[in-house]
Amino acid sequence: MNKNTDTSAAQAAQPSIERIRHELRMRTLTVSEARYLTPNMIRICLTGPELAGFTSLSPDDHVKIFLPDGDGQELQKRDFTPRYYDPQSMTLTLDFVAHEGGPATRWAQQASVGQQLQLGGPRASQCLSGDIRRWLLIGDETALPAIGRRIEELPAGVSVTSLVAVPSAADEQRWQTRAALSAHWLHRDLHEAADAAPFLRQLGTLALEAGTFVWIAGEAAMVKAVRRYLINERGHDKAWLKAAGYWKQGVADSNEKSIDD
Ligand SMILES: Cc1cc2nc3c(=O)[nH]c(=O)nc-3n(C[C@H](O)[C@H](O)[C@H](O)COP(=O)(O)OP(=O)(O)OC[C@H]3O[C@@H](n4cnc5c(N)ncnc54)[C@H](O)[C@@H]3O)c2cc1C
Repeated sequence: MNKNTDTSAAQAAQPSIERIRHELRMRTLTVSEARYLTPNMIRICLTGPELAGFTSLSPDDHVKIFLPDGDGQELQKRDFTPRYYDPQSMTLTLDFVAHEGGPATRWAQQASVGQQLQLGGPRASQCLSGDIRRWLLIGDETALPAIGRRIEELPAGVSVTSLVAVPSAADEQRWQTRAALSAHWLHRDLHEAADAAPFLRQLGTLALEAGTFVWIAGEAAMVKAVRRYLINERGHDKAWLKAAGYWKQGVADSNEKSIDD
């Protein structure tokens, strides 16, 4: 096999991301369950006939929820991950990090059965394809819904390593999966969420083979630093990595999503 053939075979094996658009629909749903899943995560289940046709094809999809702001004048929009959707019971589950405040957190903290929530989307799903046998999923609490969903949806014969920062051992989550899972947890305060150092220390102890798909999400500065480390210091191929800033410390409604450089 000559060098050119080697290169094209390697390229063919690279994963690709296909953006599949969905009809954008606004829905008004009713809270059917609201409880603390762990000390810093609130689980909200939503039901209603308007969920008919709800489609979420990728674990890192998001819906936009619409919330009254402090003075009730203008609706605020925030992004959340569809953690589960059960088409039989028409129930959509969202998990909210309980941080110090913002309209989404405030809403989740007071939510009770029977209340309504307006949401739109997902507008699209970014579906990964390719022969991915190894995954490394890195994130903070805001990425936990997407990481948990990815792990639960992976098939047998695949290995997955997760590295997630949470405030305490009681905030760790357990997942059922057919994949071979190695779960690593970091404990740090929410105020330290932009500090990538604990992630970099732990990543230094973990193997990173070529052909591992790396997915990173969480506080934007942390995500940028982890991405830079994996590409520049570990030589990881950018085509095998997807990074997104899910929020920014000190900035409300930050919508910096894909992090490419
Ligand atoms: C694609 C995508 C999917 C997401 N999925 C989820 C999800 O499933 N669950 C989830 O909880 N979040 C998720 N997020 C993050 C969520 O949208 C943000 O955390 C959002 O800012 C929360 O809105 P808020 O109204 O509570 O706070 P905001 O009004 O936006 O912010 C108020 C203050 O709180 C700070 N803040 C915001 N988020 C946090 C946090 N997590 N920890 C500490 N301080 C914070 C801000 O820096 C700001 O100072 C997702 C984001 C994206 C882009």
